[in-house]
Amino acid sequence: MNQTAAAPARPYGRFFLPGPTEVHPDVLQAQTRPMMGHRGADAQAFMKPLHDGLKEVFLTERPVFISTSSATGLMEAAVRNAARTRILSLVNGAFSQRFADIGRACGFEVDELSVPWGEAHDPGELEARLSASAYDAVTMVHSETSTGVLNDVAALSEVVHRHGDTMVLVDSVTGFGAAELRPDDWGLDFVLTGSQKAFALPPGLSFGVASERMMARAATAPKRGYYFDLEFFAKNHAKDQATTTPAISVLYALEVQLQRMRHEGMEARWARHTAMAERTWTWVDDMRERGVGLSVLAPEGRRSPSVTTIVLPEGVRGPDVTKGVIERDWLVGGGYGKLKESTIRIGHMGEHTLEQLNGLLTVLEEVLA
Ligand SMILES: *Cc1c(COP(=O)(O)O)cnc(C)c1O
Repeated sequence: MNQTAAAPARPYGRFFLPGPTEVHPDVLQAQTRPMMGHRGADAQAFMKPLHDGLKEVFLTERPVFISTSSATGLMEAAVRNAARTRILSLVNGAFSQRFADIGRACGFEVDELSVPWGEAHDPGELEARLSASAYDAVTMVHSETSTGVLNDVAALSEVVHRHGDTMVLVDSVTGFGAAELRPDDWGLDFVLTGSQKAFALPPGLSFGVASERMMARAATAPKRGYYFDLEFFAKNHAKDQATTTPAISVLYALEVQLQRMRHEGMEARWARHTAMAERTWTWVDDMRERGVGLSVLAPEGRRSPSVTTIVLPEGVRGPDVTKGVIERDWLVGGGYGKLKESTIRIGHMGEHTLEQLNGLLTVLEEVLA
C-alpha cells in the first residue's frame, strides 16, 4: 500500500490528541469495504442493528440519529430545533462559547452565563438566572475539551426542568463514551456527540438523541431549516434509513466499534477512562513534588475523564512541549485558544489503555526535564 508523505508511520497507541483520537486498526480496516447503496432493503438491514446498538451504548429508549456532519453540525441542529427566539448559553470554555456563537449566527437572541475558563457551572447560579428571565433553551457542554472541565449536566438539567418548557441542549462530544451519560434518566432534551472523540471512530459522523418534548418543539421550530430538521431525521430513522447519502465508510467503522463497545460495556468503559484520568492527575502531583511546577487546570471533583488540561511551569511554552513530544514520535494536544502558550492537553480517551498512557507520561518527563 502507498504510504503518503503526510502520514507518519507512528506506532499504534501513541496518539493522544483530544480529537481526533486514535482509531483501533480493526475499526480502520472496516472502512475498506466496498460501497453499498444507501436506499432499499439491504441498506435498511444494514442500518437496523446500528440503530439498535446506538440505543444500547447511549443508554436510551429514544432513537439515536446519525448525521453525516461533524459535531458542530448537530450543535446547530440543537439550537435550530429547540429555539423560537431566546437561548441561554452556559459558557466555560471554547466549545461552550461556540454553542453561543452558533445560536447568534442562526438568528437567535443569546444570553451568556459565563464562568472563567477552567471552572464548572453552578446549578444555583443557573437557577437564579432562569428565575429572572425565560428562555426557549439552555446550551451546555458536558466535557469542555478546551479546559478539561466536566459539568454536572444531570444537576444543571434538573434546574432547567423546574422552569417550564425550556429545552436542555447538551454537547457531550468528549463526554459520551468516557463519562457517565444518561440522556433519559437525566431529562436531556438533546444530546450530541461526534464520531472522532471518545467514540474512537474516524471523523465524519455525529450522533444525537432528542427527547419527546424536543421533537414536539422541533415540529413548530421556525428556523429548523432542511439538513438539520429533526423531523427529517425521525422520519428516516423510523424506516432504518439515512436522511441523505451518509458517510458509508464511517458507518462500516461504526458497526465494528459498536461491537467493541458493547463487548467492553459502558460502565467498564467509563471506569477505564476514570483510571486513565486519575493516573494523569496523580502524575501531575508527583511531578510538582519533584520540582516540575505542573498543575491540572480543572478543579478537583469537576475534572473530565477524557481530557486533562495541564498548566505548565512559568517560562515553559506549550508549543515547545508538544514539539518535543512529536520529535520522540508521540503526539499530545496543544493548549486551546487563549491557553495555547500556557497549557498542553492529554486526550486520554477512546481506545487508549493505562499502559499506553504511562508510555506518554514517561516521554513527557523526558521533554520537561
Ligand atoms: C471537538 C468538539 C466539538 C466540535 O466537533 P467537530 O466534530 O469538530 O465539529 C464540539 N464540542 C466539543 C466539546 C468538542 O470537543
